[in-house]
Amino acid sequence: MGRSNVGKSSLINALTRQRVARTSAAPGKTRLANIYRVARGAAEPFYLVDLPGYGYARGGKASAREFEELAQIVFGRDRQDGPTPPADLSALLLVDARHPGLRSDIEAWQWLERSVERGAVVATKIDKLARGERIRAMREFESVFEQAVLPVSAVTGEGLDELWKLIDRLRRSSSPPPHNPRNPEGTDRPPRPRRKS
Ligand code: GDP
Repeated sequence: MGRSNVGKSSLINALTRQRVARTSAAPGKTRLANIYRVARGAAEPFYLVDLPGYGYARGGKASAREFEELAQIVFGRDRQDGPTPPADLSALLLVDARHPGLRSDIEAWQWLERSVERGAVVATKIDKLARGERIRAMREFESVFEQAVLPVSAVTGEGLDELWKLIDRLRRSSSPPPHNPRNPEGTDRPPRPRRKS
């Protein structure tokens, strides 16, 4: 998930090397969640849910509410007042490398931390920054989100291999634990991933 125009569709296309997601120069248009079944090599296929972008002023309150409703259907409710989301769900928050520390991104991350077991932050469009700007921006991101942030570019392909590895790691930490005779259903939740709090 991420703000409108953050480069979500471009990144999905770059990752899958297909034009499956529709990109757009006019932000805030897509109000649908797109679900992709991703089958890569010998790995177990998984579902990638592409939520509509948030934080675009044009949609106003109604679109913010739509977004929250959709996100809650996907992620389950806030853990404090509802059922826990599925144990094998992970989330990636996409943020624009040129704009560290946006309030809407920080709020999205806080919301994700409450709603999903495993998440990571990815900084898109890193090709748009010169070396010095990039170092400054990444430092700021890591201080805002208090964890490593992965820089990527759908244009140059930078960071895409690392992003696949990150996705594999998130998925591995969500797979059911090995068979345990004392828990034949295998319903234990996997351990929380390393995330500084
Ligand atoms: P979405 O609304 O989050 O799906 O964003 P899009 O993928 O449609 O991208 C929004 C705009 O940013 C488009 O004009 C893209 O060409 C551009 N864009 C997306 N990713 C990158 C990137 O990695 N580098 C650069 N330079 N532009 C990008």
